[in-house]
Amino acid sequence: MTDTLADSRTSGRVFTDGVPLVVEDVPRRPAVDRAAVLADPGFGRHFTDSMFVARYRAGEGWVDARLTAYAPLQLDPSAAALHYAQSIFEGLKAYAQPDGSVATFRPEANAARFARGARRLAMPPVPEQAFLTAVDALVDADRDWVPTGPDQTLYLRPYQLAVEPFLGVRPAHEYLFVVIASPAGAYFPRGVHPVSVYLSEDYIRAAPGGTGDVKCAGNYAASLLAQEQAIAAGCDQVVWLDAVEKKYVEEMGGMNLFFVLGSGDDAELVTPELTGTLLPGITRDSLITVARELGHTVTERKFTVEEWRAGVADGTVTETFACGTAAVITPVGSVTARTGDFVVGNGEPGPLTMRLREHLLDVQHGRVADPHGWLHRVAPAS
Ligand SMILES: *Cc1c(COP(=O)(O)O)cnc(C)c1O
Repeated sequence: MTDTLADSRTSGRVFTDGVPLVVEDVPRRPAVDRAAVLADPGFGRHFTDSMFVARYRAGEGWVDARLTAYAPLQLDPSAAALHYAQSIFEGLKAYAQPDGSVATFRPEANAARFARGARRLAMPPVPEQAFLTAVDALVDADRDWVPTGPDQTLYLRPYQLAVEPFLGVRPAHEYLFVVIASPAGAYFPRGVHPVSVYLSEDYIRAAPGGTGDVKCAGNYAASLLAQEQAIAAGCDQVVWLDAVEKKYVEEMGGMNLFFVLGSGDDAELVTPELTGTLLPGITRDSLITVARELGHTVTERKFTVEEWRAGVADGTVTETFACGTAAVITPVGSVTARTGDFVVGNGEPGPLTMRLREHLLDVQHGRVADPHGWLHRVAPAS
């Protein structure tokens, strides 16, 4: 991250409060190599040429904001995040638009959630406008990496971690804010298939007063064993219950859940309410709006495993799906639980699940109108 005047320039963008965003001259991978990656990007395996990095020091605030070559970070072995997990992240996507521009989806919502997460982990928040500037600058610099194949995207991963070299237990005095980008293929390249889920009765994801409503790295570390248990039970994903009564359905892995009651135009949706232990998903929020626009009633409330099971048995619950940025919508086909397994609907993706999925993908890829201004065009550097 050293800088010589010869190979860097200010971008004309300001990160925050008089901190310019410096753009280094980054080595570019040859177009043939890039094309080979974009032909089959998968998820989270390949990264673009650049990354954004800014540093925070107590007393100085955010400093040294730059686009630099994607490369390993240098961390002191005593860096606080490695020991005490002061670490949060975001996930959003950039979409190639039919007019040749590139847009991200509701990045303001990610910026706000990121700042809220920082406060919860006693970290200095990245100003929301600075977050947007960093994401825009990276997407703009690596525009060539935004794939244009069907349902392909550029996945963006902003994150913040404590890097102060100090083993004392207190909020660190130094942080990095980093944004990396990874081309992503269609989530279901061979058609949408429902997942099988395993109800976690041994482990919990989040307890009242904990960190369940922020995207902190530690939540994910604590979830991996239950996910392994789900795989061992022959399932794809873990479903979390509330920590206190182990009665209410909360989330599926890193995705929010919706239940469809009834069918046709009168079908209603229920999604678990945000009690503080659920992550407030931006996809969840968008789908509540879209479903209401399509004429469906959407209720945010607690939903028990028993209501799910009985509803599936008597035909009231016709569909179940999970939603999040990475997969948009994933149908849930079957449930494995100690208290008895059950199949949702006929085990195929439900009609409302698929309709909502198509609609949201159409908005994101610019194929239909965007009445809420959810798409944010990434402006070229001036
Ligand atoms: C990120 C995440 C979601 C989905 O949020 P989106 O903003 O829709 O991507 C849901 N649950 C958990 C636990 C998450 O970390």
